[in-house]
Amino acid sequence: MESNTRKWLKSHHDTLFPFFPYLKKKRIEWLFDRLEQKGPEKGALYVHIPFCTGKCTFCILTKELPSHPSHTTKYVNSVLEEASAWGDYFSPVETVYIGGGTPTSLSSEDLKLLFTGLREHFQIEPDAEISVETTVSELTEAKMNLLVELGVNRLSVGVQTFNRGLRKTLGRRGEGEEVIEKLNTVRAFFPLLSIDLLYDIPGQGKSDVITDLQKVIEIGTDGVSLYPLIYSPKTAISKKFEAPPIETAKGAFGTVKSFLEDNGYRHLNINHFTNGRDKFQYSTYFNRLGNVLGLGAGATGFLADCFLKHPSTSGKYIQNKNKNTVGNVFNVPENVIPVLWCVSQIQYGRIDIETPRREWGFEPLEAFAGTLKRGVDRGELIIAKNIIELTSEGMFWANTIGAEMAVEYLYNGKGNLVSLEESTAKIAKTIMLNKLRLRSKRRN
Ligand code: SF4
Repeated sequence: MESNTRKWLKSHHDTLFPFFPYLKKKRIEWLFDRLEQKGPEKGALYVHIPFCTGKCTFCILTKELPSHPSHTTKYVNSVLEEASAWGDYFSPVETVYIGGGTPTSLSSEDLKLLFTGLREHFQIEPDAEISVETTVSELTEAKMNLLVELGVNRLSVGVQTFNRGLRKTLGRRGEGEEVIEKLNTVRAFFPLLSIDLLYDIPGQGKSDVITDLQKVIEIGTDGVSLYPLIYSPKTAISKKFEAPPIETAKGAFGTVKSFLEDNGYRHLNINHFTNGRDKFQYSTYFNRLGNVLGLGAGATGFLADCFLKHPSTSGKYIQNKNKNTVGNVFNVPENVIPVLWCVSQIQYGRIDIETPRREWGFEPLEAFAGTLKRGVDRGELIIAKNIIELTSEGMFWANTIGAEMAVEYLYNGKGNLVSLEESTAKIAKTIMLNKLRLRSKRRN
């Protein structure tokens, strides 16, 4: 008899683990040469501001308390120094995303410094989507005015829930009513408003999630990011609470999806819904392996088939004397790119079969045959003529399906591309399978 020990992977980062042993570390000069040969290309710019004074019990983000105003200014100057190395290779910029931490915890002076500097180093398109993440507690009217002045046209607000008891569980500041009041003001300032909500919170029922969504719709939100709470062992919340049973989360996801669709929203990717106005361009760059330049502590980018990773603390980031070399470069081998592309497409809920056939002579139906067959049998996938499409059930399992696809091809030898030593491949496979717990166990 087979017992299903399949793990529900909640984060798209989990789909990338199977690729790690295949990545080749390169010098940054190697990447600059490669970019020079390609010539400047359009891209998305991500800047990470790691500072936040919040104490959310579930926080797994790269964040730290701002130690001193001079430190944050030093940090912004370091970001701009790094930016100065990239302007020649990366142009024009089609979208800018400032994430955190809480970017609006920067002082008005630091925010001005950052935006003015970015505009000096990059050719940012006049109609670029410029997003900033914030919490309502860090947002004053003066700061909203400043952000509009600086060209920010999309605000992404972390709310998580309006429910009083659940906000307490999450360690969020402020009451739901104050949050709604602030959001109504935000709505008047910015052309595009996106709100982050969480489900799978301890003690949260389906009706609580729907109540949150009703409020978000009443405010006139353009985009809704809906993430399941991640019970990382490091967080305070997971020390106190067990994750609810998976069936509860699945029920909530299905209800929420139908509710948003009935109210005129559609899935833009597995965690984000739009009323049609919100394009969330930054996320679409990542999912189609477009050029994303990440700057700052903890930021990740993807350029010319390479991941660009940064030191995770502001201290280490500032200390690096030569800002040209602050990022670590990891090249994805040519024969792994189509696998990464297909796995990334899962974030949209569909894989176009023709593109990898045309671009790389890669056949997804063969490469992932086992995963696809199981997905169809479970009612998670539909395979049409040129499309592999996720059903509602499949959307819920999307990250798990993505990791299963990667493991099938990279570790079960389908593509015969194991450029790794046999022993390394064996160890990597064991670590991956245990970490992702993608195997079913047999029991008598
Ligand atoms: S506001 Fe965001 S970055 Fe700050 S602690 Fe909460 S979740 Fe983490």
